[in-house]
Amino acid sequence: MALKALLGLSQAQLETWAKDQGLPAFRGRQLHDWLYAKGARQWNDITVLPAALRQQAPLPLGRSAELERYLAQDGTLKLLLATDDGLSLETVGIPTRDRLTVCVSSQVGCPMACRFCATGKEGLQRSLAPHEIVDQVLTVREVMQRRPSHVVFMGMGEPLLNSDHVLTAIDCLSRDLGMAMRQITVSTVGVPNTLPRLAELALERLGRAQFTLAVSLHAPDQALREELIPTARAYPYEQLLEDCRHYVAISGRRVSFEYILLGNLNDSPRQAQALAEQVRGFQSHVNLIPYNPIAEEEFQRPEPARVEAFAGALKQRGVAVSVRASRGLDQNAACGQLRRQRQGGR
Ligand code: SAH
Repeated sequence: MALKALLGLSQAQLETWAKDQGLPAFRGRQLHDWLYAKGARQWNDITVLPAALRQQAPLPLGRSAELERYLAQDGTLKLLLATDDGLSLETVGIPTRDRLTVCVSSQVGCPMACRFCATGKEGLQRSLAPHEIVDQVLTVREVMQRRPSHVVFMGMGEPLLNSDHVLTAIDCLSRDLGMAMRQITVSTVGVPNTLPRLAELALERLGRAQFTLAVSLHAPDQALREELIPTARAYPYEQLLEDCRHYVAISGRRVSFEYILLGNLNDSPRQAQALAEQVRGFQSHVNLIPYNPIAEEEFQRPEPARVEAFAGALKQRGVAVSVRASRGLDQNAACGQLRRQRQGGR
């Protein structure tokens, strides 16, 4: 495949590229420093390069343009970025005192069509290239003037339909931006036959599969899961759990199960008990996400007391559980909605 951008390449790859251009290898090292450490946006920013080379700009650096920016009252930053071919994608920076988490998109749109998800309403436009993923992290760093500590693939898209580019981006984030691989989380709703491959591919390509796998489970049984996630029809619950066990065995890391809480649909104490039985014996962790309302659907966001009761029922059965705090809701731009608002999709 022809190289589309420099971002995403390692120092050795940039040196090779420089030599191919008839330049000395040290130009590759300079490019590496300016792309990653200094966060150059365009050739002209890289003042150490000869003017002629900067003007010639033989290949795009690979940075996306910013279309819109929202800063929520709680400090959450939501960005709408533009790709070269005129598409837009969301990325979010979520700061706490000792963390900065970047929630990145792996695709523009998504083909999975989960019923509660805003991104799923518009189908897939295309998968993102590695540089378009790494760019999101650099852009959040630049705007927030702070080094991201964590990256979660929980923005737009299904990462396991773009495993190759997602792994290349993870490789770059850890190698070139110095991020710890264990602070990177890949979230999937489950695509048959891709989960076991992901860990093996990571071992082959990166030498380790140290990132965290998060699986969007959302229901305690196959029947309800299929109602919420149409693509689950092709992926039996037992098989999905089996594939998760396989990932745990290969990576040595625990799996995190995400469970969106939809009022009066999957949030009863009885369902908590059923969920506890499903994940029993697993090196796992359940992350409860109270539903963020989207325009197209009538699902309910459960009351805090109901969320607490669900969490309590899991804990009682020995399941490690956390409840995700909703961030940035004051801008009415949660989960894929920033982009849909701009497109007049709501
Ligand atoms: N396709 C991947 C990653 C993107 S979604 C996946 O499904 O895991 C990231 C997380 O946000 C998923 O757990 C998803 O179920 C959740 N999510 C999607 N829409 C939501 C909504 N309206 N409210 C709360 N969480 C939502």
